[in-house]
Amino acid sequence: MPMTDTALLAVLLAALAGLLAGRAWAASRRRAELRTRPGFRSSPHYTEGLHGLATGQLEAAIRELGKVLREHPDAVEVQQVLSHLYREVGQVERAIEIHRSLLGRADLTRAERGYILASLGTDYRKAGFLDRAAQSYGEALAVDPKNVHALVGQQKLYEEQRQWREAYEAQTRIARLRKSDDGLVLGFLQAEMGHEAAKAGRHEAAEEAFRTALSLDRRVFPAHLALAELWAKRDPRRAAAILEDAIGTAPERAYLAFEPLEKAYAAIGEPARFVALCERLVAQDPRDWRARLALARHLRADGRAGEALGLLLRALEANPHVLIVHLEIWRTLGAQQALGPEERRYVATVEESALYIDPHICTVCRYRADDMLWRCPHCHEWNTLVEERVGPAAGTR
Ligand SMILES: [Zn+2]
Repeated sequence: MPMTDTALLAVLLAALAGLLAGRAWAASRRRAELRTRPGFRSSPHYTEGLHGLATGQLEAAIRELGKVLREHPDAVEVQQVLSHLYREVGQVERAIEIHRSLLGRADLTRAERGYILASLGTDYRKAGFLDRAAQSYGEALAVDPKNVHALVGQQKLYEEQRQWREAYEAQTRIARLRKSDDGLVLGFLQAEMGHEAAKAGRHEAAEEAFRTALSLDRRVFPAHLALAELWAKRDPRRAAAILEDAIGTAPERAYLAFEPLEKAYAAIGEPARFVALCERLVAQDPRDWRARLALARHLRADGRAGEALGLLLRALEANPHVLIVHLEIWRTLGAQQALGPEERRYVATVEESALYIDPHICTVCRYRADDMLWRCPHCHEWNTLVEERVGPAAGTR
């Protein structure tokens, strides 16, 4: 019986499918043979090591996984985990040693080689060898251009060296690969690019960068501030509008805009708008000592020390830990001629000391800073520092 075209096609397809399946099977068997490195998973030390990992006992995990490696020196996975642990506990040189010896193996897949090179880059970065780190990340990306690990490491390197444009480009690639929304980080990087442009006197480029930053994420507060600064002299009304908009977007950051906003209102001859703004913020959040402090300073400068003192005392009730408020109370008492020579000497001493720190804390890693920072120097995250707020001691209310 003659075969129809359809039947012939079906046979050909079946044959082709069989051929492909056979190839895949043979390949997976070859991989399986390579992968069936002696069964380290059945070692009791492996189980103990995992237990140590799961319970955060890193030293115990290192000890047990070390024993696994003595029984099964070829277990790449175990070497990888162990090297990470060494890096984690600060023994970077041992991590480097493991990664370098792993790279000498001939049976690594491309992805494995890329991953190990990226890990080596991170070892070097942690150890402070930035050139070598950059080189390892570059090699990792040459082996595997989609290695997110290497891209992230490279991006961090750029940030640490304040190469904002390169960091921005790396972050864009990362966002594309991970399909993540990195608008906030990209926005902060644009803001940094804007600052550099402004410093170099390239005001148009600066303005464009700040606008791009805000189109990426409205929460990039320094972009609002910088944009307002660009307009402050030429058009204070416009600067004030930008700052009001910033406060509307992130009221918890409002205090960072107080000084320029007060100046802008003064420049357009409407200083009362500052009072109204502070009063609105206090009504919104009765614990907002910064708005009270700003308003108190404004009133004191206006000769209304009595009202200022009332505000400060209320700010102190809600935030007794804030040294700046204490100091401002002394200053206000001084303005009311309420201090004798000894008190005045005391206040002068406090003014000179470094007491009136402005405590901020990272919401990710709890790093404390004396100033507002946009990028945490410890965990390297953006926009994670907030002012540290402590409630009044229990039982005082
Ligand atoms: Zn942090």
